[in-house]
Amino acid sequence: MATIDIKVPDIGDFKDVAVIEVLVKPGDTVKPEQSLITVESDKASMEIPSSAGGVVKELRVKVGDTVNEGSAILVLEGDGAAASAGAATGATAAAAGSGAATAANAGAPAAGYGGTTGAASSGGAAGATAAPAAPGGGSSPAGAAPARSATPPRTSGPADLECDLLVLGAGPGGYSAAFRGADLGLKTVLVERFATLGGVCLNVGCIPSKALLHVAAVMDEVKHFESMGVTFAPPSVDLEKLRAHKSKVVGKLTGGLAAMAKMRKVTVVQGSGEFIDAYRLQVTKADGGTQTIGFKRAIIAAGSEAVKLPFLPKDDPRVVTSTGALELRQNPKRMLVIGGGIIGLEMGTVYSTLGARLDVVEMLDGLMQGADRDLVKVWQKMNAPRFDNILLKTKTVGAEATEGGIKVSFEGEGGVKEQTYDLVLQAVGRVPNGKRIGADKAGVEVGERGFISVDIQMRTSVAHIFAIGDIVGQPMLAHKAVHEAHVAAEVAAGELLGDDHLAKAAFDARVIPSVAYTDPEVAWVGVTEDDAKARGLNVKKSVFPWSASGRAIANGRDEGFTKLLFDADTHQIVGGAIVGTHAGDMIGEVALAIEMGADAVDIGKTIHPHPTLGESLGMAAEAFEGACTDLPPVKR
Ligand SMILES: Cc1cc2nc3c(=O)[nH]c(=O)nc-3n(C[C@H](O)[C@H](O)[C@H](O)COP(=O)(O)OP(=O)(O)OC[C@H]3O[C@@H](n4cnc5c(N)ncnc54)[C@H](O)[C@@H]3O)c2cc1C
Repeated sequence: MATIDIKVPDIGDFKDVAVIEVLVKPGDTVKPEQSLITVESDKASMEIPSSAGGVVKELRVKVGDTVNEGSAILVLEGDGAAASAGAATGATAAAAGSGAATAANAGAPAAGYGGTTGAASSGGAAGATAAPAAPGGGSSPAGAAPARSATPPRTSGPADLECDLLVLGAGPGGYSAAFRGADLGLKTVLVERFATLGGVCLNVGCIPSKALLHVAAVMDEVKHFESMGVTFAPPSVDLEKLRAHKSKVVGKLTGGLAAMAKMRKVTVVQGSGEFIDAYRLQVTKADGGTQTIGFKRAIIAAGSEAVKLPFLPKDDPRVVTSTGALELRQNPKRMLVIGGGIIGLEMGTVYSTLGARLDVVEMLDGLMQGADRDLVKVWQKMNAPRFDNILLKTKTVGAEATEGGIKVSFEGEGGVKEQTYDLVLQAVGRVPNGKRIGADKAGVEVGERGFISVDIQMRTSVAHIFAIGDIVGQPMLAHKAVHEAHVAAEVAAGELLGDDHLAKAAFDARVIPSVAYTDPEVAWVGVTEDDAKARGLNVKKSVFPWSASGRAIANGRDEGFTKLLFDADTHQIVGGAIVGTHAGDMIGEVALAIEMGADAVDIGKTIHPHPTLGESLGMAAEAFEGACTDLPPVKR
């Protein structure tokens, strides 16, 4: 069996350092990255990890020896792959354990999140063996995996608290990573600057917006009842009670998270965290006190925040981001939504149902970019009465706070225009928090815009530090963050606990669904029709109009349709989109079908319950095969 000399790697400024502890003995089985010795200088002590796995054959150091870079530590009898990884990396021993996993990924395509609309989805069309896309694609220009540096030697400078896994940020990414890590047996610390867990999604994002959208949807729904002979008195809205309802929903969920953290013995530290080196994070508390946390692995889940347009008045309550809009502090008569994306349109829906007249301004040529135009058209037709103006290909160029409102100037095809509003919502995107966490001190590379590039194991440029969620790139969605979280936590646990199966976890989702929770809802996943056209993909579509759906007609809401896209040759599903009520609840089935490599016959022959909106999926697939009996016959 091959033997490997394990040597002291590059340990920076440490010269002639004393060995104070030898952590293994001849005959011990050592895993890659397992600590072998502890050395101490006048500044700090550090553990030197093994570059390879195997059985210790001979020790070359003892307590009291002094060592430098290149000094022999021990001889290992190697064990296959791990041994060769160690041999290959030589003196940079510290990175070999995780480096082995990274090297395995190096051959995977770094196509970015093509999965939502592109590469990975069309890979899906090509068959079930499509290689995973690298999640970092949104953050790194070409979707390339970050250049990995060797794991710096483990220093154990002063720390108030030591843990296996440190998670920075308690949004859907962070709490999921911490809980998964703890469930797998890691001593886990979760650092969050705010008092409640749940991040943007639970506190000021997905959940409160959906609590309000539900109320708005019911208020709008009952208006349709008039034509069915049922009338209700015009609603009266008690904003205070509505706010209380929203807070109760948020409180129930965030309180639940706190309880689940306790059940798992996850230590939650409240305060703002910044890395001080590659193995320590300093947390500054509300009272100014600090706590230093040492870790073996870290997962950065620090999320993102709303972009603030520099020319809008600051500290004026009439100018808000989504966070301010969710506070429901005012009941505007005229509201401007800057940015025609999902967040802006969802918030606009709520305010319009509560009584505001809406203008929306968008620089591009259409609202709800990313969704096929035929879906957006259905939404736009239903929602036209909410809007006074939909300003497309128009820039907002200035704004002034006046007594009568916020006077905003626009520049578009018709020149410059001005309008005055009671409330202006800026919803022009979100910026990642990558530049606010001292990442450079840990050696983690952060891109110009604040995104952190990662490989398909969610590793940053520093092998033992992972990043997940909004901070690693588009799409900025909670369900993406959660899946990435599980991958990062499993890899970290696998490496620390010596579980090879877990250590090989990777983010290999083919597709990530998107949903606009407007009324009607718009949902899509995988290849879109517009995208397929632009890329010249060989796909064919099949549409089931809801005007032929018994359930949609019974509900009085048959404006929608279900569209499926199939590979023209294999008939495998590559994408799907739905516009209509509950579209968001149904799109998961399309995602599952794509993940499973289902074809039109699989979907069409799956018996869907009747009468449901979900059966429109089966019928669209039947229609693709010319076998749908709920539509007029196909002309031969
Ligand atoms: C109005 C709105 C509606 C949305 N609706 C949906 C939806 O319906 N579906 C969906 O999938 N997504 C939705 N999103 C997006 C979703 O909220 C995000 O994609 C998701 O929250 C990202 O999770 P995350 O864990 O990456 O980060 P975040 O949720 O942003 O959490 C990051 C956490 O890190 C903390 N943090 C940051 N820096 C530090 C630091 N230095 N020290 C300590 N703590 C720190 C923050 O306080 C925060 O709690 C919505 C967003 C908004 C704004």
